[in-house]
Amino acid sequence: MTEIKLHNTLTRRKEVFTPLDPENVRMYVCGPTVYDRAHLGNARPVVVFDVLYRLLRHVYGPEHVTYARNFTDVDDKINARAAESGRPIGDITAETTQWFLDDMSELGALEPNHMPRATQYIPQMVAMIEGLIADGHAYAAEGHVLFRVRSYKEYGRLSGRSVDDMIAGARVEVAPYKEDPMDFVLWKPSSDDLPGWPSPWGRGRPGWHIECSAMSYELLGESFDIHGGGNDLMFPHHENEIAQSCCAHPSGGFAQVWMHNEMLQVEGKKMSKSLGNFFTVRDLLDKGIPGEVIRFVFLSTHYRKPMDWTAEKAREAEATLRKWRALTEGVSATDVADPVLEALADDVNTAGAVAELHRLAAAGAAGELKASAALMGLLGEELGDWAKAVDLSEFAQRIRNLRTHAIETKDFSELDAAKAALQTAGVEVRMSKDGVELVPGAGFDVSKLETLK
Ligand SMILES: [Zn+2]
Repeated sequence: MTEIKLHNTLTRRKEVFTPLDPENVRMYVCGPTVYDRAHLGNARPVVVFDVLYRLLRHVYGPEHVTYARNFTDVDDKINARAAESGRPIGDITAETTQWFLDDMSELGALEPNHMPRATQYIPQMVAMIEGLIADGHAYAAEGHVLFRVRSYKEYGRLSGRSVDDMIAGARVEVAPYKEDPMDFVLWKPSSDDLPGWPSPWGRGRPGWHIECSAMSYELLGESFDIHGGGNDLMFPHHENEIAQSCCAHPSGGFAQVWMHNEMLQVEGKKMSKSLGNFFTVRDLLDKGIPGEVIRFVFLSTHYRKPMDWTAEKAREAEATLRKWRALTEGVSATDVADPVLEALADDVNTAGAVAELHRLAAAGAAGELKASAALMGLLGEELGDWAKAVDLSEFAQRIRNLRTHAIETKDFSELDAAKAALQTAGVEVRMSKDGVELVPGAGFDVSKLETLK
């Protein structure tokens, strides 16, 4: 069996991955809060952990892997969005949940086995909070329930900081009902205009962190293999998840391996609305950048390195995929090439695996290229519509006619204009003594071509 190595944030080392139960390898990844379109950075963990999911399925068998990713559908950001838009919360969360699924599917991400919504697990969260109070790890005060951070000695181990360091560095909310400023909210009271559920502490709603502890316990058990997410979640969210879960289920180990992907930048800068470089996955798809191209650009950088999204990379990725699709068209996939599998098994080194795919393509190993790319969710039927060959013969004939006319009249203006229009649509015009050849290149845009007809 292929040996997988994964970098574990908890130990800060790359370790040989040994599942607790190879018959049921279990992974939990923190999912989106559903109130808006997913921005490009939100998509990175989805694609990264999708590749890991595919790798685990390849190594242990598809029926022996369980992947859970949640939807946070109760959150103050959602409440605020509902208040400003005047729409019911349920409509907003249902709509944005579907947007997320549609957008991630366009990036070639498989759906996890479980996609729990927080609002479906309120009783389990209440039960977990009751247990934490009973064991002295939490306390109720003024309609709130707070986790007593000092009751968990290992708090801070994941991010490698002491509680006192964290207090110094974090914007912790000081509140009169807190015993300690670091204590975090498990439950809070809801006014009548906000979503709320009955609880022993009055009508209220859960804090954010408890949902992942409750849902992972329900779906994967008190110990499971991998917990993933963006590294912006390491503190406080993941520290809090660990504290809650390990205190609620002291006999379990919670997650064995913690994996965090680095953040995403755009053209070398942090993505932000004020810099005008903020966009959603849907923005890119609507601009005609295929989901497969976005996926390829993501996979060209290792998940533990910052990923820089650039228009140039997207153009290159498009040209590469177009070439590889032409090479593998009608070819049956053979076996995954060993160097590709080895790269992925080495801490999901997708950048290394992409380099191996280039080597396979250069060697003309189309069957292996197709099989190996499939393991990374690339070159499959489901993502291939954008690259389907287009019939350019009509345009080629027009160029031939214009050229004949231009040679007769010595007026090349019409020919030049037609060539320029094709180039704008991403079509390279190659003219020689023997004739005219039109080649769709990087940036090829069928919709622009339609307008030329
Ligand atoms: Zn989480």
